[in-house]
Amino acid sequence: MKRLVILGGGESGIGTALLGRDKGYEVFVSDKGVIKEKNKQVLKHHEIEWEDERHSEEKILNADIVMKSPGIPDKVPLVKQIREQGILVVSEIEFASGFTEATIVGVTGSNGKTTTVSLTHHILKQELNVGLAGNIGDSFAKQLLEEDFENYVLEISSFQLDDIIDFKPHIAVITNITPDHLDRYDYQFEKYVASKFRIAMNQTQQDYLIYDADDEVIVNHLRNNPVQSTLLPFSLVKSIESLPEGSNGGACLEGNNIKIIVNNNQIIMPTTNLKLEGKHNIKNAMAASTVSHLLKIRKQTIRESLENFQGVEHRLEHVLKINKVQYINDSKATNVNATYYALESVDTPTVWIVGGEDKGNSYEELFQFVNEKVKAVICLGLDNEKLMKTFGGMVDVIVETQFMAEAVKIAYKIAEAGDSVLLSPACASFDLFENYEDRGRQFKNAVRNL
Ligand code: ADP
Repeated sequence: MKRLVILGGGESGIGTALLGRDKGYEVFVSDKGVIKEKNKQVLKHHEIEWEDERHSEEKILNADIVMKSPGIPDKVPLVKQIREQGILVVSEIEFASGFTEATIVGVTGSNGKTTTVSLTHHILKQELNVGLAGNIGDSFAKQLLEEDFENYVLEISSFQLDDIIDFKPHIAVITNITPDHLDRYDYQFEKYVASKFRIAMNQTQQDYLIYDADDEVIVNHLRNNPVQSTLLPFSLVKSIESLPEGSNGGACLEGNNIKIIVNNNQIIMPTTNLKLEGKHNIKNAMAASTVSHLLKIRKQTIRESLENFQGVEHRLEHVLKINKVQYINDSKATNVNATYYALESVDTPTVWIVGGEDKGNSYEELFQFVNEKVKAVICLGLDNEKLMKTFGGMVDVIVETQFMAEAVKIAYKIAEAGDSVLLSPACASFDLFENYEDRGRQFKNAVRNL
C-alpha cells in the first residue's frame, strides 16, 4: 500500500485525504497549526490517521508521496527535508486530476480568477454537466469523489501550480499578471510570472491558452517562452487582425460588442446589457465566453447568461443607494491593480475607503483617478501613515480611522447626491479584520445601519 502524507488539514487537505483513502492509499494528515473541529470530525469518521500542532518526522519522511497545502511555503525546513529525500511533492490539483478523465478548464491570474470561473461556470452549467472547484467552494479532490462531473472549471493559484507535474487543463486562462505574493517568490516577479505559466506547461496544440493580450507581462513572457498550446488572446484595444502573431482567433471589442472568433466561427455579443461593470469585467466576460464558445455552448445561451450573471459578493458589489449615493463593496480588492479597475469603473465623484495591511504597494497608477474623481479619502488601517502621506496633497479631505462603522459614517457625511462611496482597500485585511469577507460584511452592515 502506498503512503500518502498530507501537510495541512484545510479544505484541500481533507479533500485529498478522502480521495486518497478511496483510491487505496494509506493516508496520514499532519498540520503544524490547529485543524478545525469540523475537519477533525471528518478525519475521525473516515478513520484517517492525523495529528495537529506538530509534524512528526517519523510519520512523514516514510511517505511515497506528499500533498502539500498551497499555504505552506517551500522554505519550511520540513518541506526541504522531504524534497531532499527524493519524496514526490504534489499539490491537490495534481493529485486529484490523475483520477479523472473530465474536461478541465483552469483559470489563473493575479486578479479576476473568482469572477471569471464563476461566470464561466454560470454559462457552462446551462448546457453541460460541470463542477466549480479549486480555490472556491469545495475542494476539487472532494468533488471528484462525491460527484463525478464531466467537466470542471477550476480556480488555480500560483501555489497550486508550483507543485504540478502532469496536470493539464484542456483550456487554460491567464486573466492578467501583476505583482502579488512576491514574498513566496524570493521577491522576484519573473518567478511569479513563470509560476502562472505552468498552467500551460503540459498543454499540446490540441489544448487552448486564453490570455489578456493587453497585458505586457503576459505578452513578453510568451514571446520569450513560447508554449505548445493554441493561443486565443483577448483585447480591449486591438482588433482581431492585430492580435499577437501565432494566435488562432481570439476576442476583441468592436464598438459596444464583444467579437469572438474561434476556428473561423464567429460570435458577437453586446456589452450594453452586462450586469458586471468596469472594463476589467469586459475582459472577464471575453475569457468566459471564449471558453464557452470552445465548449460549443449555443450563442444565445452565452448571451443570456452574460446578461443575467449577478456578479460575485465583495467584488464591486452594489450594496445600497441612500440619498442618491451609491455604496459599493469591493473588499476583495486586496492589491493595487484590483483597485485600479474599481476606481476606473466609477463614473461619479467618489468617497474612497482604502487601507489595511500594505504589501509594499506602490500607488502611483491610481493617481490619475484620484485626481479626477476622488473627493475624499478615508484611510482604514492599523497604520495609515503611508496612505496619508501619499494622498494627503491630492484631495481636500483625508481622514483616518480603525473602525469600519466609523469609516462608513464619515463617508455618509461627506457624500452628496450623485456620489459613490467605494470600499476598495488595495491592501490585505488582516490588520483589522478576519479576512476580506469579514471586512466586506462589516461594510455592508454599516451601510445598512445608516
Ligand atoms: P481573484 O480570485 O483572482 O482574487 P476576483 O474575481 O475575486 O479575483 O477579483 C479580485 C479583485 O480584482 C476585485 O476587486 C475585482 O473587482 C478585481 N478584478 C476582477 N477582475 C479583474 C481583472 N480582470 N483585472 C483586474 N482586476 C480585476
